[in-house]
Amino acid sequence: MTDACIFCRIVHGTIPATLVASNAHGIAFRDVNPQAPSHVLIIPRRHVRSLAEATDGAELGALLLLAAEVARVEGLDASGYRVVANTGMDGGQTVHHLHFHLLGGRSMQWPPG
Ligand code: 5GP
Ligand code: ZN
Repeated sequence: MTDACIFCRIVHGTIPATLVASNAHGIAFRDVNPQAPSHVLIIPRRHVRSLAEATDGAELGALLLLAAEVARVEGLDASGYRVVANTGMDGGQTVHHLHFHLLGGRSMQWPPG
């Protein structure tokens, strides 16, 4: 837990978020500024700064399985979806607590901007 970290505060319930799912390693909640009809963030319960600093494969695997579970719950399996981990400055990461974006419900463009 890092007091200054907004996602740690969401994990600990001291700031509100709309939870969608959770497992032993992580939680999933709706992005406050959605970029698609379904936009959910999947984050570890532990404070990990970014994918670049992740070391726990079991934790990462559990987060990706949680993303797939959320996609099923959101009804995105048939239409498809995108999972993104913006990492570091060029990756466009703005919150420095590892998170996967799950985006779906519309057609995605490639390459991303
Ligand atoms: P990044 O730019 O780091 O990849 O993504 C951070 C995401 O967190 C953004 O999509 C932003 O809208 C979302 N976000 C930032 N602060 C909050 C918050 O307090 N609550 C929720 N639910 N999402 C947030
Ligand atoms: Zn944190």
